[in-house]
Amino acid sequence: MLSRGTAKHNPGLGPTLATLLLLAIGQPALAEWIGAARPMMGTEVSVYLWSDDADVGRQALEEVFDEASRIDHLMSTYIDESEISKVNRQAAAGPVVTSDELFELIQRSLDISVLTRGAFDITFDSVGQHYDFREHKRPDSSTVEVERKLINYRLVKLDRAAGTVAFGQAGVRINLGGIAKGYVVERGIDILRKRGIEHAIVTAGGDSRLLGDRLGRPWMVGIRDPREDGEVAISVPLVDEAVSTSGDYERYFEEDGIRYHHIIKPSTGEPAEGVHSATVFGPDAVITDALSTSVFVMGVEQGLNLIGTLPDYESIVIDAAGRIYYSDGLAPPGTQNVE
Ligand code: ADP
Ligand code: MG
Repeated sequence: MLSRGTAKHNPGLGPTLATLLLLAIGQPALAEWIGAARPMMGTEVSVYLWSDDADVGRQALEEVFDEASRIDHLMSTYIDESEISKVNRQAAAGPVVTSDELFELIQRSLDISVLTRGAFDITFDSVGQHYDFREHKRPDSSTVEVERKLINYRLVKLDRAAGTVAFGQAGVRINLGGIAKGYVVERGIDILRKRGIEHAIVTAGGDSRLLGDRLGRPWMVGIRDPREDGEVAISVPLVDEAVSTSGDYERYFEEDGIRYHHIIKPSTGEPAEGVHSATVFGPDAVITDALSTSVFVMGVEQGLNLIGTLPDYESIVIDAAGRIYYSDGLAPPGTQNVE
């Protein structure tokens, strides 16, 4: 169960490799914690697991990385040969046949767009494509003005019987950056479960899924302080749960005191303001991934109201003043939540 975590600057950081290695001390010989982290998908993918048989554990770990790489090659807009890049090139001209896997993830994305009234929208990429955070490159206001009119998930037409996707207008582009890492995490956990693993964490960027507990104790998941590098704002004990954080500190640059970051508000075409980080907990990492991006865009009040309608999901939002807000199911007794 979720409960409010300990206060700021608590040393109980999230599950780092170091903590996990420490935990391994004193365990029976062959069973051990195994972990690895690799740069992938423009971020880091990591796997930590407890295995009774180290060889089986290491094999399972490799399978998770292989799966992440496979999904990336299907769904990354940064890879020209990926299926999604083909869709972006061709779907405005007519329906494009896609794999079931890509079709389903696009369908789930569109469902979340309906749920969030367009706060989550994979067509954000008509504007998003003009950003290069490493190069400090951003679209000028006239480009935003033109491209933001193409942000509209209703322009993505799926035909289930034919297995195709088509765009309603030239210039529409889709990008699964707000949901694909959650999918990688879910698929990774599935693989581990099938291999008989019962205690594990799979993480891709800001998205994690915890399998079981940490050998009789909950995992302590740290939510980063959005403005203090390496500091933890809150740590939360979790068992068997997915958790995703969207933050304005992941990919950004500053220009004239303005922070240009990677989460776009579809209605303005500009980076969403008002929130520094949004964390969502729940049973499915695909959903927590998409919802953390959504809550970030919607802001404290609307975002937490939405979460309040979803019985299995909870959220913690840190606003631009550093204030911390909890969804109703988490609010510790005696504290005030948003109206
Ligand atoms: P992270 O990539 O750090 O895990 P998120 O899950 O919040 O963070 O995803 C942010 C990514 O989502 C962006 O880099 C971009 O690819 C995509 N994105 C940005 N704005 C939107 C939006 N309004 N709807 C859907 N996806 C978005
Ligand atoms: Mg997300």
